[in-house]
Amino acid sequence: MIAEIIINSNVRDINHIFDYNVPTEYVGIIAIGDRVLVPFGRKKTFEEGFVVGFKEKSDFELKDIAKIQEGFKLNKENIELAKIMARRYFCNISDCIHLMLPPGNATKEFSKRVTEKSQECVYLKKEEDEILLDIEEKKIKSEKQIKTLNFLIDNNGSFITDIEMFIDTSRAIIKTLEKNGYVEIVEKQIERNPLINKKVEKTSKLKLNEEQQLAFETVNKSIKENECKEFLLYGVTGSGKTEVYLQLIEEVLKNKKTSIMLVPEISLTPQTVDRFVSRFGSEEIAIIHSKLSVGERYDQWQKINNGQAKIIIGARSAIFAPVKNLGIIIIDEEHDSSYKSDSNPRFNAKDIAKYMAKQNNVPLILGSATPDTTTYFKAKNKQIELLELSKRANNAQLPNIEIVDLREELAKGNRSIISTKLYEEIENNLKEKKQTILFLNRRGYSTFVMCRDCGFIAKCKNCNITLTYHSKENKLKCHYCGYEQKNIKICPECKSKNVKYFGTGTQKLEEEIKKIFPTATTIRMDVDTTTKKNSVEEILNTFKNENIDILIGTQMVVKGHHFPNVTLVGVIAADSSLYLEDYRANERTFQLLTQVAGRAGREKNKGKVIIQTYNPDNFCIECSKEQDYEKFYNAEIVLRKELKYPPFCDIIVIGISGANENQIKNVSNLIYSNIVKLYKNNFSIYKPLPAPIDKIKNKYRWRIIMKCKLDNNIIDTINSSLNNINNTKVRISIDVNPNNMM
Ligand code: ADP
Ligand code: ZN
Ligand code: ZN
Repeated sequence: MIAEIIINSNVRDINHIFDYNVPTEYVGIIAIGDRVLVPFGRKKTFEEGFVVGFKEKSDFELKDIAKIQEGFKLNKENIELAKIMARRYFCNISDCIHLMLPPGNATKEFSKRVTEKSQECVYLKKEEDEILLDIEEKKIKSEKQIKTLNFLIDNNGSFITDIEMFIDTSRAIIKTLEKNGYVEIVEKQIERNPLINKKVEKTSKLKLNEEQQLAFETVNKSIKENECKEFLLYGVTGSGKTEVYLQLIEEVLKNKKTSIMLVPEISLTPQTVDRFVSRFGSEEIAIIHSKLSVGERYDQWQKINNGQAKIIIGARSAIFAPVKNLGIIIIDEEHDSSYKSDSNPRFNAKDIAKYMAKQNNVPLILGSATPDTTTYFKAKNKQIELLELSKRANNAQLPNIEIVDLREELAKGNRSIISTKLYEEIENNLKEKKQTILFLNRRGYSTFVMCRDCGFIAKCKNCNITLTYHSKENKLKCHYCGYEQKNIKICPECKSKNVKYFGTGTQKLEEEIKKIFPTATTIRMDVDTTTKKNSVEEILNTFKNENIDILIGTQMVVKGHHFPNVTLVGVIAADSSLYLEDYRANERTFQLLTQVAGRAGREKNKGKVIIQTYNPDNFCIECSKEQDYEKFYNAEIVLRKELKYPPFCDIIVIGISGANENQIKNVSNLIYSNIVKLYKNNFSIYKPLPAPIDKIKNKYRWRIIMKCKLDNNIIDTINSSLNNINNTKVRISIDVNPNNMM
């Protein structure tokens, strides 16, 4: 008997099926999905592999499988999905299998958990690339040290007791790594169960309004009939979508089945979880997201695997949870970009959810107030059933939205980033002791330094992107590679002293606000203030509980939060996301503005939203003023059709990067000509060109863009176009409809 094995490795060359002999003692025991140890190449130690199939004959002389690993096993369905994903997302099968393995790649079951209050927690002190290079150059030799570092690359911020449990290492080894500057160890509170301290009052189900009832019954019919069907639950913010989810989940529970509920990573806050715990209790709920430590993730995973958890709430990777008896999949805020992975495997959780719904004959619900243009297009064309909730459920009114033309402000001589109108409203809110949120749309927009005489712009020497000015330290920093330098006073090109910084960061906005309103209390939320675990929660709790006057923040303030005392939302400059080099720029701007506006006046007090912009006539800004999704969609879909963008086409981006620009260019051209030769159908392909950000961390970046429907034909073409590329110094990534086009 011969087993087909996939080696656990992300090296492209090893992405093959290897044949191994099954020793007689394992015949009849071994199964697809088993994790095995096998001899591989010239290595003295065994490699881990996964059994993906069996056959009777092989043309080669085969080695024996050494051992079948104990503990969690994958199943046939897992392997089948991994194979489909590897093809569809152009990556290794083992990369996809990884998503389905227990956290920390655990090979055994841990029953004894450490529960002391405070523990030593380990963080990496160097960048991943740097560590991998040191390993490659044999600066680190000890196998155990290497193993520990690799584990931390996947699970940064792990408790020592956990690391010792997951892999064969020790505190002494971690201490050595600390001494050599690779890691730092900090004392930290340990919280084994993220649901434990929840003291929430039990809520019982609400009487649904007519629209909710109709939505509920329609989906419930599919639940009862074990029917795979896709729904779009399209309802304005606060229309009671979550209440519909809760009641559907209750039905699924009655049938002793399990529900998966995906939410955007960033809105997986205690507020969201509380609503589920208060309805169902914490016993049967498991949560999965990247902010949990590896030990916490393992416990949650185990709770699902042994069938105790019947409701799984999580970010995109939760779609791979080891659920036994699936009853429904719900994807809330389905338009959110976090459902698409930006790193290998570059999967879209929506595609996976659809596949799983089909395999398990269960309904899939996509919910949103501002659906993805593609999703709404499908709903209009009856590929998805549309369910609509048209008004707010608790009778709260939608906020008033006003647009301020910043060009007029300038003409009036107001050079501040706060318009007269917004100033008055903030002042008023302060007087009435109501809270305000100021939102800075910062994507592709930050504080940069420019010479007003010659136009010189300070850029990172490794990445060729604009450096960001940080006023606190008076430094210029690169947000890609972490490079930093002192701020410049004199232009290095023309020696002029007329060097100024432009644009507005959240930090500068906070300083301005403090100057204008010296007595107001403020709090800031952005990537710089939210690096530690849970700190998003801390900031939000402080804002709410201490009744801070003004919350200033980026994208992070937008999602799903509910603050009863917030009555004013100010958008500092709505425009910046309009200029993204991305076909979704309009859609993102509209979604963002609608979401921010949704934060105001969620209860008794009516809300007000002020949007400052240089483009008051732009259609997505107009539509967000009127909160008119339908109008936005109708205009957007025409553009998409004209320009051949999704849903009419897919955008496939082949990225080629490496340290040697000539090699990059050659490989790019080779792939390009391969594809042109192989693919005969009608499609658009653009000649290889440097990416907009053409260098990151000293690696040159080129790309090939294609516009066509991603079908089997094109998948095969792309896969075979890479066959004769074997330059290991060049990295190739293929992304379909990527989030980031830079
Ligand atoms: P969404 O998920 O669409 O934003 P929610 O489900 O959070 O909306 O509902 C918004 C508010 O309306 C919540 O406070 C919720 O308790 C309330 N609500 C929802 N459905 C009903 C209902 N049928 N009757 C009364 N209040 C409701
Ligand atoms: Zn100059
Ligand atoms: Zn850089």
